[in-house]
Amino acid sequence: MTAAALGPDDGPDDGPDEGPRPGADESVTVRVPAKVNLALSVGPLRSDGYHDLATVFHAVGLFDEVTAAPTDGTLALTCEGEGQVDVPLDATNLAWRAAELLARTAGRSPAVRLHLTKGIPVAGGMAGGSADAAGALVACDALWGTGLSRDDLHALAAQLGSDVPFALYGGTAMGTGRGEQITPVLARGEFHWVFAFAHEGLSTPAVFRELDRLREDAGEQAAAPGVDEELLRALRAGDSTLLGAALRNDLTRPATSLRPDLRATLQAGQDAGAIGTLLSGSGPTCAFLAADAVVAARVAAALEAAPSVRAVRRALGPAAGAHVL
Ligand code: ATP
Repeated sequence: MTAAALGPDDGPDDGPDEGPRPGADESVTVRVPAKVNLALSVGPLRSDGYHDLATVFHAVGLFDEVTAAPTDGTLALTCEGEGQVDVPLDATNLAWRAAELLARTAGRSPAVRLHLTKGIPVAGGMAGGSADAAGALVACDALWGTGLSRDDLHALAAQLGSDVPFALYGGTAMGTGRGEQITPVLARGEFHWVFAFAHEGLSTPAVFRELDRLREDAGEQAAAPGVDEELLRALRAGDSTLLGAALRNDLTRPATSLRPDLRATLQAGQDAGAIGTLLSGSGPTCAFLAADAVVAARVAAALEAAPSVRAVRRALGPAAGAHVL
């Protein structure tokens, strides 16, 4: 589990001493995976407004691509693909912020043309914006030949958002703190996933606020966050049945409270034979674990027919982190 794009072998071949740096007329394209949280345990609200999390990130084969091309002008951003009309094309875009931060750190101008090709649903709980930030960091790093270390890029990623560092690494990893402290998790084998996209996105802060409200109304004291040993055992064994039974997400209750139709989506996948059902991150995307490709096809077909579902995708996990194509 490395940030594969940071290795010198991953860039275009510019000669032995140039590493991944392309020539002046070349662009760099980086592919970055979406994630699901196999476990998402949310601690009490902290005084800084964040929550401590214990999570197991799992990168899956749904991708965004970030292309960085040289320009003499200022930073420019374009986008195509899944949910493109909802993607901001200004300085609020995480990819834009990533390019600016890297340029500032490297002491250079942020002159770059960024193009996003989205396959990850926008505001879907699969960290698409974070993936684009990681992709922009790796693409601009390769384009500009900044010479920053992997640790430097990780630190910049953590400044941009809690989910950005994991998008650099991919694979399966434990996230602690706000999710930005990453430790690899031993995971065997490949898992078959089906994803049901919803008609509308959900705001991550709104889902956390709803969790706090539900806990307060119920007089619940949130425990310190933690990940169940069964989940880690299932991953070590590569056992999808055990994994399906061990999937947990504390954000399911608040997300389904805000969007009751998600319960119908989760039920439809379970009825079709999924061995695990899971809200992806803060939702509204629902994730389904299938025993094999045949069951995955059956679950996907059933979800296509569900009125609460806009689109269905199948993917394998784990997937590699941000890497230059
Ligand atoms: P997370 O699970 O990390 O909270 P998400 O997957 O639910 O995020 P994103 O797709 O990252 O959601 O988008 C959340 C919001 O961020 C969008 O509604 C959009 O306004 C904004 N945004 C900023 N940059 C991007 C980007 N590159 N792609 C998509 N949305 C972006």
